Amino acid sequence: MWRMLKAKSEEEIALVRESSLLVGKTLAEVAAEVRPGVTPLDLDKIAYEFIHDHGAVPGFLNYQGFPNSLCISRNEAVVHGIPTKKPLEEGDILSVDCGVLMNGFYGDSAYTFKVGEVDPDVDRLLETTKRCLQLGIEQAVAGNRVGDIGYAVQQEAESNGYGVVRELVGHGLGRELHEAPEVPNFGRRGKGPKLVEGLVIAIEPMINLGTREISQLRDGWTIVTADRKPSAHYEHTVVVRKGQVEVLSTFDFIEEKLKIEA
Ligand code: MG
Ligand code: MG
Repeated sequence: MWRMLKAKSEEEIALVRESSLLVGKTLAEVAAEVRPGVTPLDLDKIAYEFIHDHGAVPGFLNYQGFPNSLCISRNEAVVHGIPTKKPLEEGDILSVDCGVLMNGFYGDSAYTFKVGEVDPDVDRLLETTKRCLQLGIEQAVAGNRVGDIGYAVQQEAESNGYGVVRELVGHGLGRELHEAPEVPNFGRRGKGPKLVEGLVIAIEPMINLGTREISQLRDGWTIVTADRKPSAHYEHTVVVRKGQVEVLSTFDFIEEKLKIEA
C-alpha cells in the first residue's frame, strides 16, 4: 500500500502561490536578457538580485552545495547546469530552472529559452515538451494517481520519438524543496500514490531529442544526454484540486516578455 500523501492547508498553499509567482517573475527578468553574447552567469546574477529585491532567497543557492541561484542547462545539458561565463550563441537552447524560498515556502519552475532562431527539430522538441507538461498537469486532479501524470507525459513524448529521462523526477514541495511524492515523467495509468486535494507538486518533464540515457559531467552537477543531443525542460508547481488542477507558477510573465522582445 502507498502511504497517504499529505495535503497542505489553504494558508500554506497561499504561501507557495506567492513564492511560485515570484519564480515566474524572476524567469521573466531572465527571459528579457536571453540573447547571443550574454553569459549564463549574467543571467544568474539578474535572478539573484531580483529574488533578493523581493524579500526572498534563491532556493537552489547552496542547496546540497549548488553554487548558484539558477540551474542553467544548455543544449545537451538536461538539468542542474552550473551557470558559466561562456557567451550564448545563436541557435542555443537554455533550460533555466529557478527556485525561491519566501516566508518559509518554496516555489519551483523551469522554462527552456531559445537564443535567437533554433533548428526546426529543436523547436519541435520545445513545443512537444511544453505540451507534455500541460498534459501531465491536466492529470493532477484529486482521485487520480501519480502514474497518470507520468503516463500522459511519456505517451506524448515517446509518440513523437523523443526520450524521456527516467533518473530525474518531479516532486512534492512546500517547506522543503523536495518532498514526497516523487513524480516521474513515465508511468502506468492508475498506478502509484493517490493524489489528494491540496497536495502541492512540481511537474517537470525532461525530454531528449535522442536517447533517454543521461550522464553526469565531472563538475558533479550537470546532467547531459548520453548522445549529446539537445534536451528540453519545463516545470510548473501545481496544487491538486477536485475536477481541475490549480497551477501556482506561471509562464505568463515570461511569454509576455518574449513577445515584447521579439
Ligand atoms: Mg525546478
Ligand atoms: Mg523541481
